[in-house]
Amino acid sequence: MKITKVDVLLVTTANPIWRPILCRIHTDEGIYGDGEAAVAYISSQTAAFGMIQDLARFIIGMDPLQNEVIWDKLYKTTFWGQNGGPVVFAGISALDIALWDIKGKFFNAPLHVLLGGKRRDKLRAYASQLQFGWEMDWPEPITGIPQRSAQDYANVCKKAMAEGYDAVKIDFFTFDKVGEGAQQFTEEERTRLIKPYYLNMIEERLVAIREACGPDLDIIIENHSFPDAQGAVQIGQMAEKYRIMYFEEPNTPTPYMQKYIADKVNIPQASGERIYSRWQYAPYFENKSLQVIQPDIGNCGGLTEAKKICDMAYTYDVGVQAHVCATPLSTSVALHLEAVIPNFVIHEHHVNNRCVFNYGLAKYNPQPEQGYIAVPNEPGIGNEITEQAYRQAQVVVIR
Ligand code: MG
Repeated sequence: MKITKVDVLLVTTANPIWRPILCRIHTDEGIYGDGEAAVAYISSQTAAFGMIQDLARFIIGMDPLQNEVIWDKLYKTTFWGQNGGPVVFAGISALDIALWDIKGKFFNAPLHVLLGGKRRDKLRAYASQLQFGWEMDWPEPITGIPQRSAQDYANVCKKAMAEGYDAVKIDFFTFDKVGEGAQQFTEEERTRLIKPYYLNMIEERLVAIREACGPDLDIIIENHSFPDAQGAVQIGQMAEKYRIMYFEEPNTPTPYMQKYIADKVNIPQASGERIYSRWQYAPYFENKSLQVIQPDIGNCGGLTEAKKICDMAYTYDVGVQAHVCATPLSTSVALHLEAVIPNFVIHEHHVNNRCVFNYGLAKYNPQPEQGYIAVPNEPGIGNEITEQAYRQAQVVVIR
């Protein structure tokens, strides 16, 4: 079997900052596979769109079943592959995921079989990014419905719990408790020593959630890397007594400052959506500064690389929650990997996966039921790019 051509898609949606990057690898045997570069939001879409095109030229004519050979070729012979950043690795990831989809279809097996066999049929999921609300079928852009008062936070968590979730994730520092508009905080407010006003605002929200939802709700605090390390320590130390499940991306991820925070804050530490490849994860394992890693299969180097990162993590007793914030195609890919690995912690179900701008881009739109999400059992990914996505896309074909 040989790779004959690669379709690369830059998809436009009703949300102007949501532009998924997809690809389809075709073969001379009629089997095709789909992949996604998981940088759908804010920036980097045109760069990833171009990156996949650049990388695709290296694999035309190769055997798609040789995913390890192709991975090393893309890493070692494309000059910027080695120790690359999000765009390089998003490009490698999209192609690698599509190769796994082809492999699954060729052997008529779902990815979880090829990856070693699933340990679970459904995965515990958490409701992610509740500061944007937790609406179903929400048509609006990424700002959603800003949650402001402490009571808003209690209510939105209860809404998720009513659907069966027992875990939630919130960035408490996205919206101020007063005022109109979306992003309330200036870069300066989020990246210096945190004012008591804001520490108190976050604490009021945590108290309201604990009072309304009880002691058994798992709460993940998300910082989106905004605060500096000192501010992250302030937030983390304030939050310790509320028994937080983990503290995500407390600051800009670096192994040395992550260690600084882990040494000072008695909450499990999580990071990963901005860390790529085994080489970049290794120092975090060595200095024991992360207790949960969050590799995004669509930007850490694909399924080939994500499995290796997860296996490395296992040897350091580090748990895994795949970062998932892309089209439903990426959700399906994550479910296969998370079903297989022994160190799985919980699956991320992002509010964007409940928004209509994301619907229709993939054949299936997996949604949790009673807080658990089912693992696909069709050959390959068990999901694929739709005609609708092609119609909404700028498409370049590399032959
Ligand atoms: Mg995050």
